[in-house]
Amino acid sequence: MPFNSKVKAQAMVACGRCCSICHKFCGIKIECHHIIHESEGGEDTYENCLPLCFDCHADMRSYDKKHPKGTKYKREELELHREQWFNKVSNSSVSTYTDEHRQLDIELFQRITEILPWNTSIDFLRTNNFAGFSFDWDYMSDLESFLRTTTDPSFEFIDVKLEVVRATLESYADELTTALCQNTFSVADGNRSSVPQEWELECPERFNRATNLIHSTAKKVVAQYDLLIKEGRRQLGVSTSTHTNQA
Ligand SMILES: [Zn+2]
Repeated sequence: MPFNSKVKAQAMVACGRCCSICHKFCGIKIECHHIIHESEGGEDTYENCLPLCFDCHADMRSYDKKHPKGTKYKREELELHREQWFNKVSNSSVSTYTDEHRQLDIELFQRITEILPWNTSIDFLRTNNFAGFSFDWDYMSDLESFLRTTTDPSFEFIDVKLEVVRATLESYADELTTALCQNTFSVADGNRSSVPQEWELECPERFNRATNLIHSTAKKVVAQYDLLIKEGRRQLGVSTSTHTNQA
């Protein structure tokens, strides 16, 4: 049985329509997962309801016992994710945010702007044309470093608004890397790739679909990055270092 509309409404408010695991904002792209599966006696109660984004929800089902890859989500962990995220959302409007919390958020904000400054990957994505032109993967290395560090559990803002902005940036960056990996191929030597130019003549529809996808995802990454910088400066009252290091 699915959850009834009252349970769903309660859960949607409790999670702020953000995924309970990866914390990105989902809007309508959110689903309710049974922490204890229905086939194992799990009920359609609020306590058993875990709101998840499509990607995290797919992870719940895709784990193959016969070919174990990665680490399976256990019931205890899901309950903990739910409890911590629901608490974070409900505390976000209350003044439980201390000076120490703010200091930790400032440090994280500065770490992010060091790993992913405005003038490398982001600037490249802001201006590059992927339609018919090759690009150097080196330009993407900052974005890839940003994605790698997000496996660090301390890479999470305590302030819920900032955390949602950060998690959404992570998910868009991931989408972009996937779009590039699936639609571009290496050209000549070195680290350059391109949407195959022959597609433009041979299958223009595919060429357009690929370049449109890359451009629209790049645009989402840049807009979300800008939002993070603006929100971070506004809420934490810190500046980002805009000068480049001089050797
Ligand atoms: Zn998620």
